[in-house]
Amino acid sequence: MKNVTILGATGSIGINTLDVMSRHPEKYNVFALSANDSWEKMEKLCIKHLPKFAVMVNEEAAENLKKVAPDGVMVLQGEAALNDIASHQNTDFVMAAIVGSAGLSSTFAAATSGKRVMLANKESLVLGGNLLINTAKASGAELIPVDSEHSAIFQCLQAGKEGLNKIQLTASGGPFLKTPATELYNVTPKQACNHPKWKMGQKISVDSATMMNKGLEVIEAHFLFQLSPSKIEVVIHPQSIIHSFVYFNDGSVLSQLGLPDMRSAISYALSYPSRQISGVEDLDLTKQSSLEFLSPDMDRFKCLGLAYDALEQGKSVPGTLNAANEVAVEAFLNKKIGFLDISKTIEKTLATTPISNLDTLASVVENDHLSRKIAQSFIKPSHS
Ligand code: NAD
Ligand code: MG
Repeated sequence: MKNVTILGATGSIGINTLDVMSRHPEKYNVFALSANDSWEKMEKLCIKHLPKFAVMVNEEAAENLKKVAPDGVMVLQGEAALNDIASHQNTDFVMAAIVGSAGLSSTFAAATSGKRVMLANKESLVLGGNLLINTAKASGAELIPVDSEHSAIFQCLQAGKEGLNKIQLTASGGPFLKTPATELYNVTPKQACNHPKWKMGQKISVDSATMMNKGLEVIEAHFLFQLSPSKIEVVIHPQSIIHSFVYFNDGSVLSQLGLPDMRSAISYALSYPSRQISGVEDLDLTKQSSLEFLSPDMDRFKCLGLAYDALEQGKSVPGTLNAANEVAVEAFLNKKIGFLDISKTIEKTLATTPISNLDTLASVVENDHLSRKIAQSFIKPSHS
């Protein structure tokens, strides 16, 4: 029986993780759950799963939850409590599914204490890069990707990397793949969050619309699989059936296919190296009228180019890219800036923020704070 801690339990990945786990009650125990402020959702999860700990980061939400939590569930409050449940001696597996840099510290806590870290929070790797990889190596923690593309590549590389020529991350292209470029300036947050294939949290949905999500994934793949940027390509595949490709030097290409449902990747992270039922239906390729593949339009999706440049520059630059993106996406969701201002804000922040070496978690956090402050200074009211 594995004790599982889910960081970001009320989110899209968190709920899907609980769904997969509940299909295997003999294998997994819900040990601890966390959320930011949605205590009513957390109350429901506590009643259903009876975790030992429930963490609310927000103080008022924690007080509210304490009043209604079932007997046996200990309610904890604050960011430090995230680290406590991630590194708790009785935790075996940690699902790192908090969105954004808010997930950094708890992901590191899990990695430092040698857990199986099921990594959905790609931002941790973009910010922490080799520091996170080396932390996991030193403690014996397993870093298992949950991002569907990285899970696909991880699955294709089970026999090792020998003969690997390159990888290709597939991207749906998001909701604006075919929107005329002249209309992009006034698209709304609602349109941006209306992803054609995946049902996800708001931040990653906007990232998919700008293709920054794929940019962050290129950086994630670089650190996870230790590949140079030139060996990481992106191909648009609107049907989201093939979750990535690995090209080998004998002309073979391996890929992993499946319906666009995160439970496959989540299930594999839980059951690795074996497999188990995830709740995802079988793929029927005869029902797919076509599978298309296109090169991304780098003019339309400026964020993708910015991410490649940041990766080439290395050091603190990917962290700055991530921070500026988080600030810009939040401003877009709050209608303070327009859709096309997202990439402009990131570009200006990258041009202004000093580049530094990030050798410690403290320096990663410091760079994140500085970059956010600089990005915030470029947020101007939207033209609309
Ligand atoms: P979501 O918005 O649905 O859920 C986010 C979770 O994080 C919630 O439980 C929320 O309470 C918690 N949270 C938010 N802000 C917090 C804070 N400041 N402190 C502590 N907790 C906080 O997001 P999601 O779509 O589930 O995505 C989670 C992560 O997984 C992201 O890093 C995303 O990039 C990654 N991911 C998601 C998908 C997907 O299909 N949803 C796919 C691949 C990767
Ligand atoms: Mg992905």
